[in-house]
Amino acid sequence: MADREARKANVVTALNKARSMELHAIHQYMNQHYNLDNMDYGELAANMKLIAIDEMRHCEMFAERIKELGGEPTTELAGKVVKGQDVKAIYVSDVESEDDTIFVYNDLRKVCVDNGDILTAKLFETIIEEEQAHMNYFDNISGHIETLGDTFLSKIAGTPSSTGGTTKGFVINNAAN
Ligand code: FE
Ligand code: FE
Repeated sequence: MADREARKANVVTALNKARSMELHAIHQYMNQHYNLDNMDYGELAANMKLIAIDEMRHCEMFAERIKELGGEPTTELAGKVVKGQDVKAIYVSDVESEDDTIFVYNDLRKVCVDNGDILTAKLFETIIEEEQAHMNYFDNISGHIETLGDTFLSKIAGTPSSTGGTTKGFVINNAAN
């Protein structure tokens, strides 16, 4: 069944492409989390940390499926981590990055369907929904910064950055509230 093996390999390649994008997102968002914390925008820092944890969950979900298919999960980051962004640049670039992720994952989901793997296609659908939640959140914050600027930011300055005992990420945390 060489054909079947080739189909599996195509799905593993799609999963690893997504995994390397997640690895990049984790490091980018962690970097932003530390910077936001440093700028004392506690609430923004806390949510950024939780979103980085979501991306870690995605990374593991992709890896588990890769292992099930007999592949090897990549450890490569899809791109370079941009450092030292100011608060406005952070949200503009994160909206773009989530939008790009959703677009690419739609294509990768199609690769799974075309190669007869509906289970992996469903995994992509689940994760696309969570990326949409991230994008909506980043877009909200970006809009507030754009229209209210310092008025918005002065409300956030000094708020707590603790995420408490919550380690399950942004999407699960918000669903529980
Ligand atoms: Fe993700
Ligand atoms: Fe995301």
